[in-house]
Amino acid sequence: MDDIEVVVSKCDDYDLNNIEKSMDEVLELTHALDEIKPNMNVVIKANLVAPMAPDKAGTTHPNLLYALCKRLIEKGANVTVGDSPGGPYNKGYLNQVYKTTGLTKLEELGVKLNQNFDEITIKNPEGVKCKEFPMTAYLKDADYIIDFCKLKSHGMMALSCAVKNFFGIIPGTIKPEFHFLYPDYADFANMLIDLNEYIKPKLSIVDGIIAMEGNGPTAGIPKKVGLLLASKNQYKLDYICSHIIGLSMENVPTIEESYKRGFIPKDVHEIKCNFNIDDLIVKDFDTRKTHKSLWFTDEKTIAGRIAKKLLSSKPNVNKDECIGCEKCKNVCPASAITMVNKIPHIDRKKCIKCYCCQEFCPKGAMKVKRTMFAKMLQKKKEK
Ligand code: SF4
Ligand code: SF4
Repeated sequence: MDDIEVVVSKCDDYDLNNIEKSMDEVLELTHALDEIKPNMNVVIKANLVAPMAPDKAGTTHPNLLYALCKRLIEKGANVTVGDSPGGPYNKGYLNQVYKTTGLTKLEELGVKLNQNFDEITIKNPEGVKCKEFPMTAYLKDADYIIDFCKLKSHGMMALSCAVKNFFGIIPGTIKPEFHFLYPDYADFANMLIDLNEYIKPKLSIVDGIIAMEGNGPTAGIPKKVGLLLASKNQYKLDYICSHIIGLSMENVPTIEESYKRGFIPKDVHEIKCNFNIDDLIVKDFDTRKTHKSLWFTDEKTIAGRIAKKLLSSKPNVNKDECIGCEKCKNVCPASAITMVNKIPHIDRKKCIKCYCCQEFCPKGAMKVKRTMFAKMLQKKKEK
């Protein structure tokens, strides 16, 4: 068992007893607790994308965090849990997020919910795409960082899992600027990998018990997958998670780029797991596949540009669900949205397809719509 790279534990629900059993199993098989020493500062980077209740499946479940923190505190660690969601990065907003996501119950264990909202500038000369970035300061003094993400379908990047979780180290309102700086999916993926390589989490855990399918990362639908997964290699962990929900390497830019950087093998079956990963596949998981390999590589050619137009998903507002709050307009890094009669209107020429409007819409009214051509192509590939 010692050569296992990705550990999987089956867990049907968020009942604390079941969760503690699964958490103990993954901690034992990854040997993670062996490295925790008394007074060590352990920081858990959760996924707290928005103030969402745990049953919406958009955020790391509080019972899982509870089970993990309990074990860390038993080992004598000082534990902090944090994230920078979309939206303002300040005490008022974060305390609302902690409360809604159910994290305040962690305080009874002695866990600190991060209250340091400073930002620092990180020089990252080794980064491939991202050589300098602003970072949430609470991560700086950590002795041991745990990446605890949620398994979700993602409108822009296809998969929100361990690697994408570190976009949350960029302070809240700066995130849209990063979409503008890295409009190409491969560049955006490499930026995310650069953040991961800077942080180098010691352990990554995926809450895949109830995942999110469809219009993720905030407006999708809860979907039972029934798995808790962990690894010391977040790239291999993501590759296995993508396989389980029916995404291939070419559908997920972070996976394709991590392969190009030599972090994962081409064949997902070469990753050593304590289960036969094909037995874990959820066949009817509703994903949002990108067709990156078809259009980003050829973008300089006319054929590539036509393919991009035909395949590229677009944000579209559902007028019946829209409440006219203007959050999409305010978050749009390309200033592509204007409000017309309290309904957002998107200037397609300006839109860089970052899907921030979809991610931050509080009502799920902004949908990512795939083109007919992309749907036809997917069906053909699935036959
Ligand atoms: S954020 Fe959503 S609800 Fe608010 S204006 Fe935009 S589409 Fe409508
Ligand atoms: S309209 Fe939406 S997808 Fe397009 S640039 Fe603005 S936020 Fe991004």
